[in-house]
Amino acid sequence: MNYNLLYKYIKELLSIPSPTGYTEDVEKYVVNFLKSRDIRYKIANKGSVIATIEGKDKINVTTFSTHVDTLGAMVKEIKENGRLSVSLIGDYVISSVEGECCTIHTKNNKKYEGTLQNIKPSIHAYANESKQIDRSTENYEIVIDEEVFCKADINNLGIDVGDMVSFDTRTRITSSGFIKSRYLDDKAAVGVMLYVIDYIILNEISLSHTINFLFTNYEEVGHGASAFIPKDTMNFIAIDLGCLGEKQNSTEYDVSICTKDSNGPYDYKLINYFINLCKEDSINYKLDIYDNYGSDAISAIRSGLDAKFALFGPGIYASHGYERTHIKSLEETIKLIIKYISN
Ligand SMILES: [Zn+2]
Repeated sequence: MNYNLLYKYIKELLSIPSPTGYTEDVEKYVVNFLKSRDIRYKIANKGSVIATIEGKDKINVTTFSTHVDTLGAMVKEIKENGRLSVSLIGDYVISSVEGECCTIHTKNNKKYEGTLQNIKPSIHAYANESKQIDRSTENYEIVIDEEVFCKADINNLGIDVGDMVSFDTRTRITSSGFIKSRYLDDKAAVGVMLYVIDYIILNEISLSHTINFLFTNYEEVGHGASAFIPKDTMNFIAIDLGCLGEKQNSTEYDVSICTKDSNGPYDYKLINYFINLCKEDSINYKLDIYDNYGSDAISAIRSGLDAKFALFGPGIYASHGYERTHIKSLEETIKLIIKYISN
């Protein structure tokens, strides 16, 4: 496997801020990738992108999905003290971005840097108050890296309610094979998709059946794949994170196959099919249930798609926080996708 190519895609994707609702730049990145390889694609009104590579069987079509949107925040209030309160985009705990550098993207395309702090950030100034502060969203604010002292100063910068906030990803790839970053969900999987597309082209893989690669942009708020799925899709497979935690089976070294999430079971036959593919090629996999989880496969099914549906992907530690996975988990995910599309 060409790890450097995979790392390149993942790092480039992570370097493009794309909180849900502000995904145009990352969509352009995906479109440019497809254009440069002469792959047929379409763009939805909503912004998701779908690429198609034809296979021998053009009837039994599979659609793979990954999502390019990430967690983030939106400016909720311009405060009298010259700071900003935020409203979270997506489901996460605000303390996971405490002290994190961020960028405010204004509607007239300006960017301002800042830091998300709690409202009593200095132990010297606030002592016990600082230690005991409730980690709820209203107790946090963005301190902008500009000389601003009041609401009017912020207005003068052109910052307004509804402006997007992206957090630094702090992406690190260690020599031991770990990838640490915010938003590996789902950019690690988007990188995997691009790698697979390249793999198909470079190795002239002839696909057993036609494959769509769908890149959605509203997954974190629940309606990523609610539209724009080709009607002839027989199997819809979301590639998204495997949940690690106590009583979870997933690891950072295997591909995680989800059997059930908070919405109920995934397709039993398709899961068994994946298990057999893994066994045939000694692909390291784990079966797991994610109790607090929903995927684009579910939003596709809820939109009325009649297809078998499944979810698998790399195991991600501390999901929706400062995440970590290992290259082995990405490699096993890639092996399973390639096995599936060439089988
Ligand atoms: Zn995800």
